[in-house]
Amino acid sequence: MNEPADARGPLGSPWSASVERGEDGALRVGGLDVRALADEHGTPAYVLDELDLRARARVLRLVFQAAFAEIGTGVDVYYAGKAFLSVAVARWVADEGLLVDTSTGGELGVALFAGVPGERIGLHGNNKSDGEIARALDARVGRIVLDSLDEVDRVADAVARRATGPARVMVRLTTGVHAGGHEYIATSHEDQKFGLSIAPAPDGGDSPAMTALLAVLARPELELIGLHAHIGSQVLDPAGFAAVTAKVLAVRAELAARTGVLVPEVDLGGGFGIAYLPQDVALAPERIAKELASAAAEAAAGLGTPLPRFSIEPGRAVVGPAGLTLYRVGTVKPVQLSDGTVRTYVSVDGGMSDNIRPALYGAAYHAVLADRVGSPDLVQARVVGKHCESGDIVVHDCLLPADVRRGDLLAVAATGAYGRSMASNYNLVPRPPVVAVADGVSRVLIRRETEKDLLALDQG
Ligand SMILES: *Cc1c(COP(=O)(O)O)cnc(C)c1O
Repeated sequence: MNEPADARGPLGSPWSASVERGEDGALRVGGLDVRALADEHGTPAYVLDELDLRARARVLRLVFQAAFAEIGTGVDVYYAGKAFLSVAVARWVADEGLLVDTSTGGELGVALFAGVPGERIGLHGNNKSDGEIARALDARVGRIVLDSLDEVDRVADAVARRATGPARVMVRLTTGVHAGGHEYIATSHEDQKFGLSIAPAPDGGDSPAMTALLAVLARPELELIGLHAHIGSQVLDPAGFAAVTAKVLAVRAELAARTGVLVPEVDLGGGFGIAYLPQDVALAPERIAKELASAAAEAAAGLGTPLPRFSIEPGRAVVGPAGLTLYRVGTVKPVQLSDGTVRTYVSVDGGMSDNIRPALYGAAYHAVLADRVGSPDLVQARVVGKHCESGDIVVHDCLLPADVRRGDLLAVAATGAYGRSMASNYNLVPRPPVVAVADGVSRVLIRRETEKDLLALDQG
């Protein structure tokens, strides 16, 4: 499914908007030739298309605001920083009107350092440390999403000790709707670490979620601002989001009926699926915004409750398609398979340390020869890394020009999310830099690690 080898011009999905093949056959991104990028910054390198990222953030905000305005309520878009957070990226998304969702002290620290105001930051996490809770309270974050009954008291006690005034909290619900990949499934039983189940207790008593909500209301140190649900990641079917919306609004109505407290906000999480391969169809922001808004309006009308303000937390859909990884080709090895065919193993200078997703989830990616067009005849190729694992695969299957050779550049599409953020130093390979490109200018957001960085942690 590669583009015709001689195609010139924009590559289109799954690449970021500025990726094109120039007249001389080399890829360009952000107005820069990838050969120049590789010369200046080395390989492997993550390349982030700033204008593409900003446009995705802006479009998500605008289409959600339009769809929810139509049903008479508002919506905030939080960027889920775990997909990839750096100081520059936090500033870009804040510039585009997004808030920032964090799930650790590290993410919170980077967002605060970038100048994102505390009230525009949320804190998640199923196992927040005392230090993380204290830091979030000191920064007066806009919301802390409580993930267990235990945390209700831990946060309330921390508020009491610090006298910072009531903490704005949400409670994370597990609704039985889990989604990811291409399907969604609804299960009545929860067997996972996140959130509090909305299913009634086995004896017919209150659900864990209701128990926690009542516990929050009993603590004056906490201000219950809303309910939260996140169904999964890389979701390509909006039916799962519609189902979860109805369930969360039903819990909100039940809480109001029991206590008279109608919480003002509902967060529907992130997880909007993107295209990784040319044949993939991403979940269009307009489509998901409209489906979520109409599901919300319908559910609220059925329940007879006014609509809350909503928020969403996309990560991958903002940064994923904006990134690509540039690798340098090393060993090229044709391997005869038992069915008589040949697979060409193309080894690159990175691998599972800069992109764990193929090894972790069997995730599919798309690669092209980047520094030239190459021969018109193609070979069945597998792009592999340099690590000591046979599962160290970058792209399981792709067609590459038959003359692919040592020294070539390969580009892998849609690596902006969960690439650098999940990178490791496996085999003591220093992590690649993140280089932003825009309008013909490149800028290092995160520099390449060096052997000195590795040894700096080693106490001998
Ligand atoms: C991971 C996560 C997100 C973002 O998911 P994406 O697939 O990157 O959009 C949002 N909210 C929560 C609670 C998450 O855990």
